[in-house]
Order: sequence, then C-alpha cells, then structure tokens
Amino acid sequence: MFDYLIVGAGFAGSVLAERLATQAGKRVLIIDKRNHIGGNAYDHYNDDGILVHKYGPHIFHTNSERVFSYLSGFTEWRPYEHRVLAEVDGQLLPIPINRTTVNKLYDLDLQTDEECDAFLQSRAEPVDHCRTSEDVVVSKVGRELYEKFFRGYTRKQWGLDPSELDAQVTARVPTRTNTDDRYFTDTFQAMPLHGYTRMFERMLSHPNIKIMLNVDYREIMGSIPYREMIFTGPVDQFFDYRFGKLPYRSLEFKHETVDQEQVLPVAVVNYPNEHDYTRVTEFKQLTGQQHAKSGIVYEYPRAEGDPYYPIPKPECTALYNKYKELAEITPGVHFVGRLATYKYYNMDQVVAQALATYDKVISTKKERIAVTTEAATRMTSPLPPRVSVPAAIISASGGNTANGNGSGSVATRATLVLADDEE
Ligand code: FAD
Ligand code: UDP
Repeated sequence: MFDYLIVGAGFAGSVLAERLATQAGKRVLIIDKRNHIGGNAYDHYNDDGILVHKYGPHIFHTNSERVFSYLSGFTEWRPYEHRVLAEVDGQLLPIPINRTTVNKLYDLDLQTDEECDAFLQSRAEPVDHCRTSEDVVVSKVGRELYEKFFRGYTRKQWGLDPSELDAQVTARVPTRTNTDDRYFTDTFQAMPLHGYTRMFERMLSHPNIKIMLNVDYREIMGSIPYREMIFTGPVDQFFDYRFGKLPYRSLEFKHETVDQEQVLPVAVVNYPNEHDYTRVTEFKQLTGQQHAKSGIVYEYPRAEGDPYYPIPKPECTALYNKYKELAEITPGVHFVGRLATYKYYNMDQVVAQALATYDKVISTKKERIAVTTEAATRMTSPLPPRVSVPAAIISASGGNTANGNGSGSVATRATLVLADDEE
C-alpha cells in the first residue's frame, strides 16, 4: 500500500514526492507515461555528447529564496543570465525592448532613461484598462514596435492574435528604458550545474520513493492500492473531458547538432516575423558545456501534440474553472502543476505551488489527527485493538485504488490499517 500515488514526474510531482517521503515518512509511488523523469524540464546528452533540453530551453530564474534554497539541496548551480536577440528588419536587436533596441532600430542616440521614455511615450497609445496582450504592449511602446516584435511572434506561438490573449502573456516580457539586456531580472538566475535530470534524480533518490516509467496512470487503475493521489497531468483528461477539451498549445522541437563550436550570438534568437519557427536555442550557451560541436533546437508551434502551454484567454479560463470546481470536491486527489491547474507557470512557480501543497496536505493531516484522536478518546465502545493504535495511522485518509476517490470514513480507514499491518 502506497500512501501517495503521484502522477507525473515533473517539478510538481517530484517536489511533492521528495517532501512527502523525506519529511513526512510517506511511501510514494511516482509514475510517468514518458520514459524519463523531469517532465518538460528533462535534459539529456544527445548522440554527439551535448547536453540538450528535450522539450525546449529551460532557464531557471526566481525571486523566491525559499524555492532557490529548496532546489539547492539537490544541485549546485552555474550562474547564468539569459539574453535574447530578436531578428527585426534584418537586424538582431535586444528583446525585451530597451534603449539599445530603440537606438539601433531607429538609428538614434538616446542617452538616458528619460530620453528613451519620452520617445516611447510619444508612440504609446493610451489604453484605459490593459485587458489583452495587445493592450499591454501598445500602451507602452506603440503600434509599430508592437507589430515588429510582438504581433507576429504571438500569432505564430499561440495561433491567436494578441488581442485575443490575456494581458499576462506578453506582460511576461517587460519594456525597459535603460540598456539592461537581460531577459530576466530575478534575484536568482542560474542553471543546475549538472543539468535538470541529475537534480531530479537526487530529489527522487529515497527508499520511500518508487518510480515507474512508461505507464499511464489509467493503465494501473485498480491494481495498485494507494491512499491519496497527486495528479499533475492535464486536468480535463483526469475528468474524461466531461465539460469538453481544454485547449493546450503544443510545439514541435527540431533538434540539430552543428559542426561548429558556436552557432548563435546569444543563447536564443527570436524570429517574430520570419520563418515558421519562433526561436532557436543553442544549449551550450545555457549549460556552459565545452564541446567542439553545438546542439540547437528550433521550436515550431502546433495546435496538436503534447500539451505544453495552457492558453490564457477568457473562454479557456471559464472552462478551466468548471474543472477546478470539480477538482476541489474530488476527495483524496490533489491537483498540482502547470497542466493540472491550467496556469502558465514557470518552473519556480510550480515548485512554490508544490511546496505550498505539501504544507497544506500535512497541516490538514495534523488537524485530522487532532480531531480523530479527540473523537476516539470520547468513544464509549473501544475501537478494535489494531485500529486504535497510532493516531497517525488512524488519521490516514481513505484508501483508493487508482480509480476511486477516498471516502475518508472511519470504516475505510480501519480496513486500510488492517491491510497495512498485513503487508
Ligand atoms: P510537466 O513538466 O509537464 O510534468 C507533468 C508530467 O505528467 C509529464 O512528465 C507527463 O508525461 C506526465 N503525465 C501527464 N499525464 C499523465 C498520465 N496520464 N499518466 C502518467 N503521466 C502523465 N519555465 C521556466 O521557469 N523557465 C523556462 O525557461 C521555461 N521554458 C519552457 C519552455 C518550454 C518550451 C515549455 C513547454 C515550458 C517552459 N517552462 C519554463 C515551463 C516549465 O516547463 C514548467 O513550469 C514545468 O516544467 C511544469 O512542471 P509540471 O510538473 O507542472 O509539469
Ligand atoms: N513574445 C513576443 N515576442 C518575443 C518574445 C515574446 O511576442 O520576441 C510574446 C509571445 O506572445 C510569447 C510571450 O511574449 O508567447 C511570452 O514570452 P516568453 O519568452 O516568456 O515565452 P515562453 O518562454 O514561455 O515560451
């Protein structure tokens, strides 16, 4: 009997597996339908010996000390500040748009933040309430820069016009009046020194954690007993698409090894207006690996395929909210992560969400222990001897086999404890 069945071995599932096993002594089975751990952050050495990210570039950055110090328990870091150039009008220009971008594009010599701000203000279109991804950009830099840097890229990436997407999508990319050309300004910016997969291996390396790969949880339903489930896959799939399919945006990754030590001027080049792909990434610039050849990946947005991005727009959020309500009243299952909570989350946000879920799960259990122990002492007829033992066992929630939802009733708990003792 496992205490937890965790579906998905990405950040959400792995953080929870690690916490539950090492901090709460729980027995955990973590499964993934893929043939590896790490979820979309998985990296590996390709046939040429170059460390690449199978599912596109993953750059770690966070303002959360808690998240950074938690992950630091499983990896050393390589300091890395990400920089991106966008090809616009035949030039490679810094994105996020900054003073250098404006000077190069318009052949200007703006010297100060104030001068740059005045230039952008003169082009910006006032928008009362920034509701869409178009509003966010047009209100800061005007329509021309929006069209050159954002409209084409967004249409390609999402298959939607920025006016159809929530503000949060393009708001991820700020506008600057200084010459800071870093993609992120977070306090902590670094790459796991030996890669993400090594970090995940260390997180999951504990006798209480068993890993099963190449298995969809639906295949083992009913055959592996467990008490509670952590689900990190697509939430609509979990509920058999009861309210209809939630749209997720997909990508096709075309990896190549180039017989050249360095291919790109920076780690990532974006193509807002040319090509079918959105961006090209050179991995060695992220990982710091020394190698005579270089590994690159092109990202081609797709409507069909593995679900990579929830789509932040009102209709999708409304549909997700129906699933969310259902998820909230589904006992014994915790929904965590980018796919299960349909949020355009970065890695650090998923780690934070998983740590918060752990805190909640454990504090709920402690409350239940207190209530159950108190109730047990008030009972007139004593519980059967094997059930009346440790409060921690009595308080364990109802048992499941992979399809059911725990009832959490005392009767179910009693049955579970017996089954447990017989193991
Ligand atoms: P996932 O990593 O998707 O893990 C879910 C796992 O569940 C998967 O491994 C899946 O196989 C498994 N699963 C699903 N259904 C089932 C099932 N039925 N049975 C068994 N297993 C199942 N974030 C950053 O912070 N920085 C970046 O630079 C960055 N770049 C990104 C680039 C791309 C192209 C993408 C797509 C994402 C990027 N992200 C980045 C976001 C990052 O990938 C996610 O925040 C994070 O990996 C989400 O972790 P997760 O555990 O929620 O989901
Ligand atoms: N974006 C854009 N042009 C760019 C970079 C980003 O239009 O050169 C928009 C686009 O809609 C993209 C969003 O901003 O999907 C968020 O960009 P980010 O680089 O954060 O995307 P991710 O790394 O999550 O794919």
